[in-house]
Amino acid sequence: MDLRKIARNLERERCSKHNEKPKATPKRDSIDISCCCEEFRTKLTNKMSSEIKKEVENDLKKAFKGFGK
Ligand SMILES: [Zn+2]
Repeated sequence: MDLRKIARNLERERCSKHNEKPKATPKRDSIDISCCCEEFRTKLTNKMSSEIKKEVENDLKKAFKGFGK
């Protein structure tokens, strides 16, 4: 799973209230998000979870394809 890719996607978001960009720092198995307000942070956290879920599903699919060979 590529957390750096997800972090970059998160940094493309912008707060609809303050027009600020967040800072997303990839850690070993999560992403540190710092941004202007709690509301935006919640939105980013939700986005992060769904992006991570997508990545995990992709990894699983790749693993299964490997078994078929
Ligand atoms: Zn904000």
